[in-house]
Amino acid sequence: MASPSATDIVTLTAHCHCKSNVFSITVPESALPLCSPICQCATCRHVTGSSLHTTVIVPLSQCIALPVISATNLVQYKTSDNLTRQFCGTCGADVYYLAPNAWVLCTGVLDSIAPGQLSRSLIYVEDSGDGGAAAYLPTYKSYCGSSSGRDAHGPVTDIAMLGYKSQAKMKAKAGVPSRGKLQCRCHCGGVEFYISRKKPIDDVSETGLTVHKRRCTYCPCETCRRCSGFELTGWFGVPQDDIFWHDGSAIQFDKGTLKTYESTPGVVCREFCGVCGAKVFYRREAGVIDVMAGLVETDSRAEEWLKWEADDDFAQAALDLPFFREISDGIIKWNLDIQSG
Ligand SMILES: [Zn+2]
Ligand SMILES: [Zn+2]
Ligand SMILES: [Zn+2]
Repeated sequence: MASPSATDIVTLTAHCHCKSNVFSITVPESALPLCSPICQCATCRHVTGSSLHTTVIVPLSQCIALPVISATNLVQYKTSDNLTRQFCGTCGADVYYLAPNAWVLCTGVLDSIAPGQLSRSLIYVEDSGDGGAAAYLPTYKSYCGSSSGRDAHGPVTDIAMLGYKSQAKMKAKAGVPSRGKLQCRCHCGGVEFYISRKKPIDDVSETGLTVHKRRCTYCPCETCRRCSGFELTGWFGVPQDDIFWHDGSAIQFDKGTLKTYESTPGVVCREFCGVCGAKVFYRREAGVIDVMAGLVETDSRAEEWLKWEADDDFAQAALDLPFFREISDGIIKWNLDIQSG
């Protein structure tokens, strides 16, 4: 059989932020679009810190040649018999995973995504507890799946989505209790902390949707995606003195399994778990810490605590601008829907 000509092939190239890990993989154009799940399961959230776990699956049978990999610092973390995750030991980015019969590439480290290359769908939506990102991407195919029910992988029904919406309406109306803790942890448990509700931020949305909730947005910028491995990184900001280590002590950045990477030396520090690879904090301004939204131990959007909003500031940096626009528009629409009635 003749090998495909250069015009019939597509090469996906990628590197993590610190460039310790670089790879490229080539498939025939006939393999497109490649399956690109956005996993909403609790494991993916806690092992990455990302609530939008975007990967692309390249079946081994579709690879034209072995991938070209220059990986000088990959840390492995196995979350099941069938999946070994690999993240950069220096910058923390999830890079690619080893699965039976496939390469699973984290889309945030890709150099480009062309229109039509990926076929995106949401999986394990049931595990999110609140519909997760399916709330913002209603036109995408969404599948249930839950860590407890291996057979329940059918499509998420309209009735289920209506249920998620009515839950969200109640959370939107509810005031923030004056006391309480938002627990956060990584998958391996080496990073465990909580956010206190004792000093709520007076952060009234222009929509009037919620008060005293912490603003949470997806950042599409290249640094966030190459440091996380995922295209859109959900962050919420918290005053540093509202964050406590699990034992109640003040937060410190050399505790537990935290590792620090300076993505802009002397200006921006990012922490991740050195064991499981969860991305955890972003620090630039003194006294304020951004926290990865996927670490919350509540339902995935944590709407009792967080107010998700669209943020266009870095839109032009998005790897896949139409995808970023869809999710931003989805957030705006969801917020309007849960505010009405
Ligand atoms: Zn790296
Ligand atoms: Zn998952
Ligand atoms: Zn960990």
